[in-house]
Amino acid sequence: MGHPLLVKALSQVYEKVCGRKIDPYTDVLVTVGGYGSLFSAIQGLIEAGDEVIIIEPFFDCYEPMVKMAGGKPVFIPLRYKTVIGNSASSADWVLDATELASKFNSRTKAILLNTPHNPIGKVFTKEELQVIADLCIKHDTLCFSDEVYEWLVYKGNKHIKIATLPGMWERTITIGSAGKTYSVTGWKLGWSIGPQHLIKHLQVVQQNTLYACPTPLQEALAQALWIDFKRMDDPDCYFYSLSRELEGKRNRMAQLLQEVGLKPVIPDGGYFMIVDVSALNVDLSDMEANQHYDYKFVKWMIKSKKLSAIPLTAFCGPDTKKQFEKYIRFCFIKQDSTLDAAEVILKNWNKPTS
Ligand code: PMP
Repeated sequence: MGHPLLVKALSQVYEKVCGRKIDPYTDVLVTVGGYGSLFSAIQGLIEAGDEVIIIEPFFDCYEPMVKMAGGKPVFIPLRYKTVIGNSASSADWVLDATELASKFNSRTKAILLNTPHNPIGKVFTKEELQVIADLCIKHDTLCFSDEVYEWLVYKGNKHIKIATLPGMWERTITIGSAGKTYSVTGWKLGWSIGPQHLIKHLQVVQQNTLYACPTPLQEALAQALWIDFKRMDDPDCYFYSLSRELEGKRNRMAQLLQEVGLKPVIPDGGYFMIVDVSALNVDLSDMEANQHYDYKFVKWMIKSKKLSAIPLTAFCGPDTKKQFEKYIRFCFIKQDSTLDAAEVILKNWNKPTS
């Protein structure tokens, strides 16, 4: 269920983070990326007819994975709370507690949580997580907590694991990713951490689909985790230094977008930034009419400005696309030379293109 050195390293790191005993052989599963963990958790624990609550916008594979297991996705959008002033933050997007409570019923098997959040960059606060935890406990449901960006939180924010709230360890699968932790997305290694009575179902899926992940990669990841485990109290630990490096790139991207008159939503975590592009008033009348504004805008931007982003409606269920269609998602975990190129494009935004 994982190379012994790696499951041991993971259990040590997460024992320290969670403040509890984690058995490397029964409470950990090494998977092919965060994707593999999501897949094993959903296949292993969701049965036909089970409802799974998905917070919109959401990482796009959640919906099809739930459907593949025979489950029914039940969506709830993050809602924008109007703020006074000019600065927009990922913290402005919140769940309405009453609306969330209305989504839970006797068929609810699980809620899929993602913090720090892709695409908005929201880092759920302890109070927000407590609302979710209380509902999970009240309705006896599971929580699949996708925390692949767990170390990527910016100054003034703290990543909290819902599994550490009272009564939540026994009902939570926490998902991590080497790709995000060490900026090696192509390595495709991830992990699930949770209580044995839940992890054993994910292990059945893994045992009978992929069997094992590549050992050389697991060995290398284990070595890296041991190094960082030993220096977890040192600011130079990679878990913390990466977010410091990225904070500069985040601020630079925000400034660039503001300079062309846009209002980026400053993320508290992760490495994406969403921005409302409706103020640019681009004429998209000759684009395919039956597409959402963000899709048309992104296609136009790629073709005419040579700059690419992801339309936000790609992360929404059918009823919420309208609410998010004026936003697109930029990624700022880029080489400085790539950000330089983006700067040139943005600064020349209003000049006619050849
Ligand atoms: N969850 C979220 C929220 C993600 O953004 C991603 C990757 N983009 C994953 C899971 C998948 O992680 P991995 O690349 O380790 O499979």
